[in-house]
Amino acid sequence: MFGKGLITGMRVTLKHFFGKKATFCYPEEKLPMPERFRGGHLKLDYKKCIACQLCSMACPNGAIELKVVTDAQRKRHLTSYIHHMGRCMYCDLCIENCALHSLHWDQNYEISAYHREAFDYEVLTDSDREYLKQVMEAAAANPAPPIVPKKPVPPKPAEAAKPEKEGEKAEEKTETEGKPNE
Ligand code: SF4
Ligand code: SF4
Repeated sequence: MFGKGLITGMRVTLKHFFGKKATFCYPEEKLPMPERFRGGHLKLDYKKCIACQLCSMACPNGAIELKVVTDAQRKRHLTSYIHHMGRCMYCDLCIENCALHSLHWDQNYEISAYHREAFDYEVLTDSDREYLKQVMEAAAANPAPPIVPKKPVPPKPAEAAKPEKEGEKAEEKTETEGKPNE
């Protein structure tokens, strides 16, 4: 039939014209990232973190640099968390190794920059530093008691005497064995 192809084509065009748009007006509109997206900046839940450094130890590229301080109650806290993004291969090992699930990706894919220094990203925020300051002050006001080294415990008298007794028994036995049968 003459024009059949044209009608079919127009039907497809109209369907997509009035249907849901598959494109985005980037950069005004951002592309929604899936939940398991790996990329962007590391985000840290500072109040959960115990400064165990497992994330840094798990990184095969040495892309995580941490500085740790111990407060007056002998608890550890992070004072700096640098993510060297230029070295990162987004393998996710740091996040998987955090036992307290305090690390995440921020799902921001717009991380291009003109200078290399911009890829040394400080994960701690100003509010984290403020929280650290409060915790350190609270710990200093209520410090933990000093650790007294334990004195070596002397052996118990019964235990000390035991080998002698056994020695005595052994001597007695030898004497008995040495005597001729009467
Ligand atoms: S994603 Fe992988 S390479 Fe990047 S910081 Fe974490 S462990 Fe290191
Ligand atoms: S592994 Fe988790 S809890 Fe330990 S230092 Fe890293 S972010 Fe903090």
